[in-house]
Amino acid sequence: MNHLDHVAFAVLDLDQSIDFYEKNFGFKLEYREKLESQGVELAFLALSNTKIELLAALDEESVLNKFLKKRGPGLHHVCYRVDNINYELSRLRHSGFKLIDTEPRPGAHNTLIAFIHPESTGGVLTELCEYQAI
Ligand code: ZN
Repeated sequence: MNHLDHVAFAVLDLDQSIDFYEKNFGFKLEYREKLESQGVELAFLALSNTKIELLAALDEESVLNKFLKKRGPGLHHVCYRVDNINYELSRLRHSGFKLIDTEPRPGAHNTLIAFIHPESTGGVLTELCEYQAI
């Protein structure tokens, strides 16, 4: 792993949460996208060298909505940046880690991402991301 890429929070109201982080903590909105297939709308906000992701559910059926109902808004996952996500996934799989994504999938910002199950990481949903050359 190289370094922490971002921390993600599950929120009830995306507009309100963006506003909150801009007004109170000085974050700037960098990117916003609806991922219909996953039932979420996400936003990335940044400080000089810090990035957060805000995640809101698009509908009742969204996995994120189930998360929000069970645990309420708050910390959702952490994401570490890696150079070679395929290598890291196979390394973790061979070490017996439970993976949510066995293959990397496209994420925001021209990245490949994969999630590791919190059962294997002490209760912290963990994402890996590799930035692809454009
Ligand atoms: Zn993320």
